[in-house]
Amino acid sequence: MTTEEFRKYAHELVEWMAWYMDNVETFPVKSQVKPGEIFKALPDSPPLQPESFEALMNDFRDILMPGITHWQSPGFFAYFPANSSPPSILAEMLTATIGAQCMIWETSPAAAELEERVMNWLRDSMGLPQSFEGVIHDTASTATLTAIISAREKITRYSYNELGAAGNGTLRIYTSAQAHSSVEKGVKIAGLGRRNLVKVRTNGDYAIDTVDLEESIVRDIAAGYRPCCVIATIGTTGTTAVDPLNEIGEICSKYDLWLHVDAALGGTAMLLPEFRHLSEGVSRADSFVFNPHKWMFTNFDCSVYFVKDAAHLINTFEILPEYLKTRTRGQVNDYRDWGIPLGRRFRALKLWAVIRCYGLEGLRTKIRNHINLAAGLSRQIASDPSFELVTRPVFNLVCFRFAPQSLDPLRYNELNEKLNHTVNDTGKIYLTHTVLDGNYILRMAVSQTNVAERHVNEAWDIIREKSEEILISFDRRR
Ligand SMILES: *Cc1c(COP(=O)(O)O)cnc(C)c1O
Repeated sequence: MTTEEFRKYAHELVEWMAWYMDNVETFPVKSQVKPGEIFKALPDSPPLQPESFEALMNDFRDILMPGITHWQSPGFFAYFPANSSPPSILAEMLTATIGAQCMIWETSPAAAELEERVMNWLRDSMGLPQSFEGVIHDTASTATLTAIISAREKITRYSYNELGAAGNGTLRIYTSAQAHSSVEKGVKIAGLGRRNLVKVRTNGDYAIDTVDLEESIVRDIAAGYRPCCVIATIGTTGTTAVDPLNEIGEICSKYDLWLHVDAALGGTAMLLPEFRHLSEGVSRADSFVFNPHKWMFTNFDCSVYFVKDAAHLINTFEILPEYLKTRTRGQVNDYRDWGIPLGRRFRALKLWAVIRCYGLEGLRTKIRNHINLAAGLSRQIASDPSFELVTRPVFNLVCFRFAPQSLDPLRYNELNEKLNHTVNDTGKIYLTHTVLDGNYILRMAVSQTNVAERHVNEAWDIIREKSEEILISFDRRR
């Protein structure tokens, strides 16, 4: 493709991109294709001769688009969001065009220094301690794995890195029963053994029970284990529960344990002064992760990882082969030493674009709007006698279930599962579920970049309408 052709197609694509943004609501939010449908529509073998970009775009439209789930639709209430925004998309275009691989300072000084500056901006805007230093990872899963390995190396004084498990005893990691699955995955990958992840009980709010946490630690010490790390969550994936950082921090100090805070979603709310109290005690943390790629309008992937002791992070991960030695080493941040992969995308650019184009106040307004919409929805649900609000929303997530008095509560799980699939099949909205205390619960994350009151009201109308229809079919089958 010549530059001339590139210019032509790029202009056309930008037109398509803007059209898509304006029309995303007209697509079924959750892709309605069947397994294998897209695969079968694609040719068995690649073309031998060059094809036109037009041909590619036609297939993109006709074959692939039906298989896309539209995360940027304001009808997307599933999981947690993966929000994009126009400034972030524009910055991704620049990142792709420059195509720099930003593994060390010398391979693009601007990327390293912008990353350092933007990390400091975020740290200060979120009320994190001044001593924290940040780095951008791809995902919270990677950041949490990094934290677990750092904790492992701190307690074993780098001996695990040198010798492996031998002679290092059995390390134990503690987290709540509501923690994200990435914690368990991280413990497995770090070589600590899944059985050494202790899932601590939660209380009525689904936050960690600190009495059970301390008892578990004491019991483990008596049994000859080596407690190593506690992973607390600000905003659990199931219900956005917030673990009490202050108390957990005290326990970590008392037993000399690493404290990692997973604020993948909830971290964004720390931009709001009125939510800072939720992170009280964060100065006791050794590491902290949050995902601008969830609720901060920055395209996936962009996960921000802060540490109290950057030197320890570097000591844990650095490796210095001859071909990576530079004259600037020691004067600058070579971020390859701050995590797992060598190669790094220029991710700071999109974060910079988002922060500058919205401004902190612009971001706060959008985030507050989502929180208010979720609160409004939860009031509507709470006042409907056929529905049950399961948890009081902390941020943007509403957890509820259909609980009609005319039906045996033993059938509520089946009923709500059916309701979930039925509303998703309308193509107008997309919700996902969790299970709490054996109950099938619908989750509605009101947090897509462009979600407005009318979308939430429409969603609630669809849910009520479908719930009545389903209840009738259930009653008939009784
Ligand atoms: C989404 C989520 C994660 C995982 O995020 P990735 O960036 O996809 O790895 C981890 N922890 C919590 C609490 C989450 O909500």
